[in-house]
Amino acid sequence: MEKKRANGREAFKDRGERKQSLCPVSGKCGGCQFVDMPYKEQLKKKQRQVEELLKEYGKVKPMIGMEEPAHYRNKVHAVFAFQKGRGIVSGIYQEKSHRVVPVENCLLENQKAGEIIQSVRELAKSFKLKAYDEDSGYGLLRHVLVRVGHMTGEVMVVLVLGSPILPSKKNFVNQLCKLHPEITTILINVNNKRTSMVLGEKEQVIFGKGFIEDELCGRRFKISAKSFYQVNSVQTEALYAKAAEYAQLTGKETVVDAYCGIGTIALAVAGQAGKVIGVELNKDAVRDAVTNARINQIKNVDFYQNDAGRFLTQMAEAGEQVDVVFMDPPRSGSTEEFLGALLRICPKRVVYISCEPETLARDLKYLTGKSGYRVQEITPVDMFPFTGNIETVTLLSLKNDTPKLEVTMEVTVDSN
Ligand code: SAH
Repeated sequence: MEKKRANGREAFKDRGERKQSLCPVSGKCGGCQFVDMPYKEQLKKKQRQVEELLKEYGKVKPMIGMEEPAHYRNKVHAVFAFQKGRGIVSGIYQEKSHRVVPVENCLLENQKAGEIIQSVRELAKSFKLKAYDEDSGYGLLRHVLVRVGHMTGEVMVVLVLGSPILPSKKNFVNQLCKLHPEITTILINVNNKRTSMVLGEKEQVIFGKGFIEDELCGRRFKISAKSFYQVNSVQTEALYAKAAEYAQLTGKETVVDAYCGIGTIALAVAGQAGKVIGVELNKDAVRDAVTNARINQIKNVDFYQNDAGRFLTQMAEAGEQVDVVFMDPPRSGSTEEFLGALLRICPKRVVYISCEPETLARDLKYLTGKSGYRVQEITPVDMFPFTGNIETVTLLSLKNDTPKLEVTMEVTVDSN
């Protein structure tokens, strides 16, 4: 009995000690709000949150969780800073500040990526590179971004510099690749602006092909440094499977994939549709999407670089027919322009993927008003274990789908 108590958490309380967190920097980082909560509890908590916010719109199914939730992030970012007594450090910004908290081992991040970041930091010390100072604007090394292909194991390293020249570039690349032979490409990205954005405009490939490839839903995808790619590959497959199930495609439909990124959803469902139209604002992502269609020899998909709202409005004005719309906007949600155009086009089904339940609730309110849509079902998918972020996929279908059916029946009766 005594022994059992000493091993349990109660023992800490008894001795008046602070509970030990799983992560030594959790108090400062703020990235993992639920770091010390058992995973099942996390799922329950998120489920409750989704239900509170969204159940007035429709049925909320149980959240799809992960079997192995640790180290899921395939994209890892670290910021560099100089700290007295420590020299150059790598880590993350302290919550709501620009102070850098050094990080050695993060529960969320791909471990290989974490090791590469440590090597970049140690090499930077031996090459006497200076960390960029946000206040003065002096120094070279600002951030490092590592992307790992979950299925392919290809690794991209992006060194974000305050100016374009990396001294002893060749040597630096050779040493980094020697330490980590799994690295397949290295880029320099130049960000000389006083901004909180990580990546700047200019890019230079200094090793390999300049992008990585990964596999998702049986397709191969090219991913550039600046393109959006879901950070949790295991859960992305679960999310897309649910989205495809909701779309109920039969092979004939005209489908829009709005906010399509590098075309992952469009290409995953192309085999079940007649035609797919993808629209995305980011130029690099659209370029990747076009290449991805070619790599996978998919011919019934077209990608357009445009604002999704403007594009859909043009489609509505041209009187285009669309059967199903997938939409996966950023955290800010969609726009009135997009939603208004959606109500004019009236696709039979809308599959709305959201990474922010608050903006989803706002958009559902708009879409379910008066004659619009009905929410059939909402499934939360845990894309971001240990954090408070919540992803959902929602199926909406037209409220007035039935009258249309009646019209068809009348026609049938008349023709008899
Ligand atoms: N469906 C993709 C990407 C989702 S992330 C996937 O699952 O991988 C949201 C995407 O919306 C990003 O690629 C972003 O560049 C894009 N985006 C943001 N604002 C946009 C807008 N106004 N019009 C079109 N695309 C936009």
